[in-house]
Amino acid sequence: MTSDALIGHQAAYRLLADLFDRGTPSHAYLLAGPRSVGKTTVVRQLLKYLLCLKSKSKEHPGDACQACRQIEAGTHPDVWWLKRAEGKQDITIDQIRQLKGFTNLGSLAGGLRVVVMEAAEDLNPEAANALLKVLEEPLGRTVFFLISHQPSRLLPTVRSRCFVIHFGFTPLDIIKEALVSRYKLPPAQATDLARLASGRPGVALALACSPELGQEMLTQAKGFLSLLGHNPWVAMQQLIASTLKQSDAAHNKEVEKVNDYLKVWLEVLRDIVLLKLDLPGLVRYQALEPDMNKLSSGFSLLKLLDLSQQLEQARRKLEANANIRLTLECLTINFSYL
Ligand SMILES: [Zn+2]
Repeated sequence: MTSDALIGHQAAYRLLADLFDRGTPSHAYLLAGPRSVGKTTVVRQLLKYLLCLKSKSKEHPGDACQACRQIEAGTHPDVWWLKRAEGKQDITIDQIRQLKGFTNLGSLAGGLRVVVMEAAEDLNPEAANALLKVLEEPLGRTVFFLISHQPSRLLPTVRSRCFVIHFGFTPLDIIKEALVSRYKLPPAQATDLARLASGRPGVALALACSPELGQEMLTQAKGFLSLLGHNPWVAMQQLIASTLKQSDAAHNKEVEKVNDYLKVWLEVLRDIVLLKLDLPGLVRYQALEPDMNKLSSGFSLLKLLDLSQQLEQARRKLEANANIRLTLECLTINFSYL
Protein backbone atom coordinates (compact mmCIF):
# COMPACT_ATOMS: atom_id res chain seq x y z
CA MET A 1 0.00 0.00 0.00
CA THR A 2 1.43 3.38 -0.90
CA SER A 3 1.26 6.44 1.30
CA ASP A 4 -1.12 7.77 -1.29
CA ALA A 5 -3.97 5.42 -0.51
CA LEU A 6 -7.11 7.39 0.23
CA ILE A 7 -8.50 7.83 3.71
CA GLY A 8 -12.13 8.72 3.06
CA HIS A 9 -13.29 10.64 -0.05
CA GLN A 10 -13.91 7.45 -2.01
CA ALA A 11 -17.05 9.02 -3.49
CA ALA A 12 -15.13 12.01 -4.89
CA TYR A 13 -12.50 9.72 -6.38
CA ARG A 14 -15.09 7.39 -7.96
CA LEU A 15 -17.05 10.32 -9.37
CA LEU A 16 -13.94 11.67 -11.09
CA ALA A 17 -12.80 8.25 -12.31
CA ASP A 18 -16.29 7.58 -13.76
CA LEU A 19 -16.34 10.93 -15.59
CA PHE A 20 -13.03 10.07 -17.25
CA ASP A 21 -14.19 6.49 -17.97
CA ARG A 22 -17.20 7.83 -19.81
CA GLY A 23 -14.92 10.04 -21.87
CA THR A 24 -16.71 13.19 -20.74
CA PRO A 25 -14.41 14.90 -18.27
CA SER A 26 -14.76 18.65 -17.82
CA HIS A 27 -11.86 20.87 -18.80
CA ALA A 28 -11.46 22.16 -15.28
CA TYR A 29 -12.24 20.92 -11.78
CA LEU A 30 -12.17 22.82 -8.53
CA LEU A 31 -11.55 20.63 -5.50
CA ALA A 32 -12.66 22.75 -2.58
CA GLY A 33 -12.50 21.97 1.12
CA PRO A 34 -10.48 22.36 4.31
CA ARG A 35 -6.71 21.92 4.38
CA SER A 36 -5.21 18.43 4.77
CA VAL A 37 -8.44 16.52 4.16
CA GLY A 38 -7.08 14.75 1.06
CA LYS A 39 -7.90 16.85 -2.03
CA THR A 40 -4.44 16.50 -3.61
CA THR A 41 -4.32 12.83 -2.65
CA VAL A 42 -7.54 12.21 -4.61
CA VAL A 43 -6.02 13.91 -7.67
CA ARG A 44 -2.84 11.87 -7.38
CA GLN A 45 -4.85 8.67 -7.02
CA LEU A 46 -6.91 9.59 -10.09
CA LEU A 47 -3.78 10.37 -12.13
CA LYS A 48 -2.38 6.95 -11.27
CA TYR A 49 -5.61 5.34 -12.41
CA LEU A 50 -5.56 7.29 -15.68
CA LEU A 51 -1.86 7.17 -16.51
CA CYS A 52 -0.57 3.91 -15.01
CA LEU A 53 1.29 1.81 -17.56
CA LYS A 54 0.44 -1.51 -15.91
CA SER A 55 -2.73 -1.52 -13.83
CA LYS A 56 -6.23 -0.58 -14.97
CA SER A 57 -7.85 -1.26 -11.62
CA LYS A 58 -10.08 1.53 -10.37
CA GLU A 59 -10.17 0.15 -6.83
CA HIS A 60 -6.40 -0.21 -6.51
CA PRO A 61 -4.93 2.22 -8.99
CA GLY A 62 -1.24 2.57 -9.38
CA ASP A 63 1.49 0.06 -9.65
CA ALA A 64 5.19 0.41 -9.21
CA CYS A 65 5.45 1.41 -12.86
CA GLN A 66 7.49 4.35 -14.12
CA ALA A 67 4.42 6.56 -14.64
CA CYS A 68 3.14 6.00 -11.09
CA ARG A 69 6.57 6.71 -9.64
CA GLN A 70 6.72 9.93 -11.65
CA ILE A 71 3.23 10.95 -10.47
CA GLU A 72 4.31 10.34 -6.89
CA ALA A 73 7.49 12.38 -7.38
CA GLY A 74 5.73 15.17 -9.32
CA THR A 75 7.89 14.57 -12.42
CA HIS A 76 5.44 12.98 -14.88
CA PRO A 77 5.99 14.69 -18.26
CA ASP A 78 2.24 15.08 -18.91
CA VAL A 79 1.41 16.54 -15.50
CA TRP A 80 2.20 20.18 -14.65
CA TRP A 81 2.20 20.91 -10.91
CA LEU A 82 1.87 24.51 -9.89
CA LYS A 83 1.79 26.39 -6.60
CA ARG A 84 3.08 29.59 -5.02
CA ALA A 85 6.88 29.57 -5.14
CA GLU A 86 8.81 29.47 -1.88
CA GLY A 87 9.24 32.97 -0.43
CA LYS A 88 6.64 34.52 -2.79
CA GLN A 89 3.36 36.11 -1.76
CA ASP A 90 1.28 34.60 -4.55
CA ILE A 91 1.08 32.62 -7.78
CA THR A 92 2.43 35.00 -10.43
CA ILE A 93 1.64 35.72 -14.05
CA ASP A 94 5.07 34.36 -15.04
CA GLN A 95 4.02 31.00 -13.67
CA ILE A 96 0.87 31.12 -15.82
CA ARG A 97 2.98 32.03 -18.89
CA GLN A 98 5.16 28.97 -18.26
CA LEU A 99 2.02 26.92 -17.86
CA LYS A 100 0.81 28.15 -21.26
CA GLY A 101 3.98 26.72 -22.79
CA PHE A 102 2.96 23.37 -21.36
CA THR A 103 -0.69 23.49 -22.48
CA ASN A 104 0.39 24.51 -26.01
CA LEU A 105 2.51 21.38 -26.39
CA GLY A 106 0.89 18.08 -27.31
CA SER A 107 1.01 15.16 -24.92
CA LEU A 108 4.33 13.35 -24.98
CA ALA A 109 2.49 10.04 -24.77
CA GLY A 110 -0.24 11.20 -27.17
CA GLY A 111 -2.92 11.21 -24.48
CA LEU A 112 -4.14 13.21 -21.55
CA ARG A 113 -2.32 16.28 -20.20
CA VAL A 114 -3.05 17.52 -16.72
CA VAL A 115 -2.44 20.73 -14.78
CA VAL A 116 -2.69 20.57 -10.98
CA MET A 117 -2.70 23.90 -9.16
CA GLU A 118 -2.31 23.65 -5.38
CA ALA A 119 -3.65 26.41 -3.12
CA ALA A 120 -5.18 28.13 -6.16
CA GLU A 121 -6.44 30.95 -3.90
CA ASP A 122 -2.84 32.24 -4.00
CA LEU A 123 -3.31 33.42 -7.62
CA ASN A 124 -2.82 37.17 -7.75
CA PRO A 125 -5.38 39.13 -9.83
CA GLU A 126 -3.11 39.42 -12.85
CA ALA A 127 -2.31 35.70 -12.82
CA ALA A 128 -5.97 34.80 -12.24
CA ASN A 129 -7.00 36.78 -15.33
CA ALA A 130 -4.27 35.12 -17.37
CA LEU A 131 -5.45 31.72 -16.14
CA LEU A 132 -9.00 32.63 -17.11
CA LYS A 133 -7.82 33.25 -20.69
CA VAL A 134 -6.08 29.85 -20.71
CA LEU A 135 -9.28 28.19 -19.49
CA GLU A 136 -11.29 29.97 -22.19
CA GLU A 137 -9.09 28.65 -25.01
CA PRO A 138 -9.78 25.25 -26.57
CA LEU A 139 -7.59 23.01 -24.48
CA GLY A 140 -7.54 19.78 -26.46
CA ARG A 141 -7.01 16.99 -23.98
CA THR A 142 -5.66 19.17 -21.17
CA VAL A 143 -7.58 18.96 -17.90
CA PHE A 144 -7.14 21.38 -14.98
CA PHE A 145 -7.45 20.55 -11.29
CA LEU A 146 -7.55 23.62 -9.09
CA ILE A 147 -7.22 22.77 -5.41
CA SER A 148 -8.31 25.29 -2.82
CA HIS A 149 -9.08 25.58 0.87
CA GLN A 150 -10.38 29.13 0.36
CA PRO A 151 -12.37 28.92 -2.88
CA SER A 152 -14.13 32.21 -2.08
CA ARG A 153 -10.84 33.97 -2.83
CA LEU A 154 -10.83 32.74 -6.44
CA LEU A 155 -12.16 34.95 -9.22
CA PRO A 156 -15.87 34.13 -9.66
CA THR A 157 -15.21 33.83 -13.40
CA VAL A 158 -12.53 31.20 -12.76
CA ARG A 159 -14.80 29.35 -10.32
CA SER A 160 -17.68 29.32 -12.78
CA ARG A 161 -15.48 27.62 -15.39
CA CYS A 162 -14.87 24.69 -13.06
CA PHE A 163 -16.83 21.60 -12.10
CA VAL A 164 -16.75 21.98 -8.31
CA ILE A 165 -16.25 19.03 -5.98
CA HIS A 166 -16.64 19.78 -2.27
CA PHE A 167 -14.54 17.96 0.31
CA GLY A 168 -15.58 17.70 3.95
CA PHE A 169 -13.94 16.22 7.01
CA THR A 170 -13.32 12.47 7.25
CA PRO A 171 -15.12 10.64 10.09
CA LEU A 172 -12.94 9.78 13.09
CA ASP A 173 -13.56 6.03 12.73
CA ILE A 174 -12.29 5.94 9.15
CA ILE A 175 -9.07 7.77 10.09
CA LYS A 176 -8.57 5.55 13.12
CA GLU A 177 -9.15 2.37 11.09
CA ALA A 178 -6.62 3.48 8.44
CA LEU A 179 -4.00 4.26 11.09
CA VAL A 180 -4.45 0.80 12.63
CA SER A 181 -4.72 -1.34 9.50
CA ARG A 182 -2.33 0.44 7.16
CA TYR A 183 0.15 2.06 9.47
CA LYS A 184 0.04 -0.55 12.24
CA LEU A 185 -0.51 1.91 15.09
CA PRO A 186 -1.92 0.55 18.37
CA PRO A 187 -5.69 1.28 18.51
CA ALA A 188 -5.43 3.60 21.53
CA GLN A 189 -2.77 5.76 19.87
CA ALA A 190 -4.74 5.73 16.60
CA THR A 191 -7.82 7.02 18.44
CA ASP A 192 -5.80 9.81 20.07
CA LEU A 193 -4.29 10.91 16.76
CA ALA A 194 -7.58 10.69 14.87
CA ARG A 195 -9.17 12.86 17.54
CA LEU A 196 -6.37 15.44 17.40
CA ALA A 197 -6.55 15.50 13.59
CA SER A 198 -10.27 16.34 13.74
CA GLY A 199 -11.31 14.98 10.38
CA ARG A 200 -8.10 15.75 8.48
CA PRO A 201 -6.30 12.54 7.45
CA GLY A 202 -3.25 14.56 6.34
CA VAL A 203 -2.86 15.90 9.87
CA ALA A 204 -3.31 12.40 11.35
CA LEU A 205 -0.52 11.05 9.12
CA ALA A 206 1.74 13.99 9.93
CA LEU A 207 1.13 13.42 13.64
CA ALA A 208 1.89 9.71 13.23
CA CYS A 209 5.18 10.49 11.45
CA SER A 210 6.33 13.23 13.83
CA PRO A 211 5.07 13.04 17.41
CA GLU A 212 6.64 16.45 18.12
CA LEU A 213 3.87 17.98 16.02
CA GLY A 214 1.26 16.62 18.43
CA GLN A 215 3.36 17.98 21.30
CA GLU A 216 3.36 21.42 19.64
CA MET A 217 -0.42 21.38 19.31
CA LEU A 218 -0.69 20.43 22.99
CA THR A 219 1.70 23.24 23.93
CA GLN A 220 -0.37 25.75 21.94
CA ALA A 221 -3.55 24.46 23.57
CA LYS A 222 -1.97 24.71 27.03
CA GLY A 223 -0.78 28.22 26.24
CA PHE A 224 -4.31 29.23 25.37
CA LEU A 225 -5.68 27.70 28.58
CA SER A 226 -3.27 29.77 30.64
CA LEU A 227 -4.24 32.80 28.55
CA LEU A 228 -7.87 32.19 29.43
CA GLY A 229 -7.00 31.65 33.08
CA HIS A 230 -4.80 34.71 33.51
CA ASN A 231 -4.37 38.08 31.94
CA PRO A 232 -5.26 37.75 28.26
CA TRP A 233 -3.63 41.07 27.43
CA VAL A 234 -0.15 40.02 28.62
CA ALA A 235 -0.41 36.56 27.08
CA MET A 236 -1.56 37.92 23.74
CA GLN A 237 1.28 40.47 23.67
CA GLN A 238 3.71 37.60 24.23
CA LEU A 239 2.17 35.69 21.35
CA ILE A 240 2.42 38.73 19.10
CA ALA A 241 6.07 39.22 20.02
CA SER A 242 7.02 35.57 19.51
CA THR A 243 5.08 35.10 16.27
CA LEU A 244 5.76 38.27 14.39
CA LYS A 245 9.52 38.32 14.29
CA GLN A 246 9.90 37.75 10.59
CA SER A 247 10.08 40.31 7.82
CA ASP A 248 7.21 41.30 5.52
CA ALA A 249 8.47 38.91 2.85
CA ALA A 250 7.38 36.02 5.05
CA HIS A 251 3.87 37.42 5.48
CA ASN A 252 2.19 34.24 4.25
CA LYS A 253 4.16 32.11 6.69
CA GLU A 254 3.23 34.42 9.54
CA VAL A 255 -0.45 34.31 8.63
CA GLU A 256 -0.27 30.52 8.53
CA LYS A 257 1.44 30.41 11.90
CA VAL A 258 -1.05 32.73 13.58
CA ASN A 259 -3.88 30.84 11.90
CA ASP A 260 -2.53 27.57 13.28
CA TYR A 261 -2.64 29.09 16.76
CA LEU A 262 -6.15 30.42 16.31
CA LYS A 263 -7.29 27.04 15.01
CA VAL A 264 -5.95 25.24 18.09
CA TRP A 265 -7.56 27.87 20.33
CA LEU A 266 -10.91 27.37 18.64
CA GLU A 267 -10.54 23.64 19.17
CA VAL A 268 -9.85 24.21 22.87
CA LEU A 269 -12.95 26.37 23.21
CA ARG A 270 -14.96 23.68 21.45
CA ASP A 271 -13.56 21.10 23.90
CA ILE A 272 -14.57 23.23 26.89
CA VAL A 273 -18.07 23.56 25.43
CA LEU A 274 -18.22 19.77 24.99
CA LEU A 275 -17.18 19.26 28.62
CA LYS A 276 -19.83 21.70 29.77
CA LEU A 277 -22.37 19.73 27.75
CA ASP A 278 -21.10 16.52 29.38
CA LEU A 279 -19.77 15.02 26.14
CA PRO A 280 -16.20 14.11 27.17
CA GLY A 281 -15.99 11.34 24.54
CA LEU A 282 -15.73 13.95 21.78
CA VAL A 283 -13.03 16.06 23.42
CA ARG A 284 -9.93 16.49 21.24
CA TYR A 285 -7.29 17.44 23.82
CA GLN A 286 -8.02 14.71 26.32
CA ALA A 287 -4.68 15.18 28.06
CA LEU A 288 -5.85 18.66 29.06
CA GLU A 289 -9.25 17.59 30.32
CA PRO A 290 -8.56 18.27 34.03
CA ASP A 291 -7.31 21.80 33.24
CA MET A 292 -10.24 22.49 30.96
CA ASN A 293 -12.69 21.21 33.55
CA LYS A 294 -11.22 23.60 36.12
CA LEU A 295 -11.53 26.54 33.76
CA SER A 296 -14.95 25.71 32.41
CA SER A 297 -16.78 26.75 35.58
CA GLY A 298 -15.57 30.32 35.07
CA PHE A 299 -17.06 30.57 31.57
CA SER A 300 -20.70 30.49 30.58
CA LEU A 301 -21.65 28.86 27.28
CA LEU A 302 -22.51 32.29 25.97
CA LYS A 303 -19.09 33.65 26.80
CA LEU A 304 -17.38 30.66 25.19
CA LEU A 305 -19.39 31.22 22.02
CA ASP A 306 -18.47 34.91 22.10
CA LEU A 307 -14.80 34.04 22.36
CA SER A 308 -15.13 31.56 19.50
CA GLN A 309 -16.77 34.19 17.36
CA GLN A 310 -13.96 36.64 18.06
CA LEU A 311 -11.37 34.05 17.04
CA GLU A 312 -13.29 33.12 13.90
CA GLN A 313 -13.57 36.77 12.95
CA ALA A 314 -9.82 37.23 13.41
CA ARG A 315 -9.14 34.22 11.18
CA ARG A 316 -11.41 35.57 8.47
CA LYS A 317 -9.71 38.96 8.63
CA LEU A 318 -6.29 37.36 8.30
CA GLU A 319 -7.45 35.32 5.34
CA ALA A 320 -8.63 38.55 3.74
CA ASN A 321 -5.06 39.88 4.14
CA ALA A 322 -5.63 42.12 7.16
CA ASN A 323 -2.58 43.36 9.07
CA ILE A 324 -1.60 40.59 11.51
CA ARG A 325 -0.48 42.80 14.40
CA LEU A 326 -3.58 44.98 14.22
CA THR A 327 -5.87 41.96 14.01
CA LEU A 328 -4.29 40.35 17.07
CA GLU A 329 -4.37 43.58 19.04
CA CYS A 330 -8.03 44.03 18.16
CA LEU A 331 -8.64 40.49 19.34
CA THR A 332 -6.85 41.22 22.62
CA ILE A 333 -8.98 44.28 23.27
CA ASN A 334 -12.18 42.38 22.47
CA PHE A 335 -11.07 39.54 24.72
CA SER A 336 -10.50 41.86 27.65
CA TYR A 337 -14.07 43.20 27.29
CA LEU A 338 -15.61 39.74 27.34
ZN1 LIG B 1 1.55 2.42 -12.57
